[in-house]
Amino acid sequence: MKNVLLVNPWIYDFSAYDFGIRPVGLLRIGEFLRRKGAKVNLVDCMEGCSRHKDEDGFSKIKKEKIEKPEILKNIERPYFRYGISIQIFLEKISAFSEIDEIYVTSGMTYWYPGAHLAIRLLKERFNKTPITLGGIYATICHKHACSTSNADIVWKGSFLDKECFYQSGFYPAYDLLVDKDILPIQLTTGCPFRCTYCASRMFGAKFEMKDPVNLFEEVMYYNRVFGTKSFVFYDDALLYRSAEGIKRFLRIVIASGMQFTFHTPNGLHARFIDEELAELFKKTNFRDLRISLETSDEGVQQFTGGKVNNNDLKLALRNLKESGFTKKDLGVYILMGASYIDMENTMDDIIFINSLSAKAILASYSLIPGTLDYKVLVKNKIIKDGIDPLWHNKTIFSELLMPAYIRKAREIRRFTSNLNNS
Ligand code: SF4
Repeated sequence: MKNVLLVNPWIYDFSAYDFGIRPVGLLRIGEFLRRKGAKVNLVDCMEGCSRHKDEDGFSKIKKEKIEKPEILKNIERPYFRYGISIQIFLEKISAFSEIDEIYVTSGMTYWYPGAHLAIRLLKERFNKTPITLGGIYATICHKHACSTSNADIVWKGSFLDKECFYQSGFYPAYDLLVDKDILPIQLTTGCPFRCTYCASRMFGAKFEMKDPVNLFEEVMYYNRVFGTKSFVFYDDALLYRSAEGIKRFLRIVIASGMQFTFHTPNGLHARFIDEELAELFKKTNFRDLRISLETSDEGVQQFTGGKVNNNDLKLALRNLKESGFTKKDLGVYILMGASYIDMENTMDDIIFINSLSAKAILASYSLIPGTLDYKVLVKNKIIKDGIDPLWHNKTIFSELLMPAYIRKAREIRRFTSNLNNS
């Protein structure tokens, strides 16, 4: 029997928060290999690192302050490695006598030092075992990963066929996780929109949906086996084609009489939140809803992809409030720091959201290679193609283009916090 090791590496960043992030893709591969007869093990660098959980189970992550990489030396902010200590990691990998294959996943492009460190330590321990690196960084910054990670194979895109996503009874190997209080679920893959700043299309261009009945069976399985009652939707376009998808799923949940809670950290499409859907959300305990707006500037909304306009948002919020949601449950994402959004206008966005009795949730802009935004910045020689992925970091990229960004961002954050609490 093959002995396989899956590794979810550390996050390297200025800040990080646990919104129910779990290495779903890696755990799907784990289940796939298990069905082929392998013994599958997991070393999760995020295991047991959530602290001070809030009432929904989300939390800050344990961290260790570390030296900044040379490129970031001039950034006046502390930099951290989030997750277990290196010592614990070494103890965990030392406990395995022999491993035949190792799979390391990767998250945001600018977290790559975590994946690189894991690969280096794994190579020292298992010098003959082939290591495959996959995930977001390995796909988006494929060349960088090939030339710098030291992995034997760098995998671009999805490792598994789409069939695994639809197949009834095929679930990620969540049993390998220690914390199963909140688990990710997904009804759809892909997104029909093409926003200029988003990498969604690089991971499966086509929008597709699984049978809502299968998703309900999956949720019931997690509840029965792990006692999980709280779920995070990982979908990019959860509400698209809602009549055949999310509405059906939520009606099944209501009919079952089960009491779950659902979260949507990825941001919902306002234009699909009609009266019926808003009521279904309320009846099925959706908490702390996140709705995407990005900017209230209708010109920018159009040229970045036209996924939403101000009227869509007003109608969505009206429907949600009529269903019983209040300001504390209604967060609207505002994008801060994109080169085409004047930061003075960001203040107007926040005032606009406040006028609709919702909270503005600031999302810092992060540059993603392969997006239209990236191509435009390269074409206009504002950035060089192939800049180190550390520069994609949401905390510092905008500072690279706008030197006063950090000071202005602080001011905007204070302003937002005051209005959100008013
Ligand atoms: S709607 Fe959302 S997921 Fe779809 S392309 Fe735009 S930002 Fe990406």
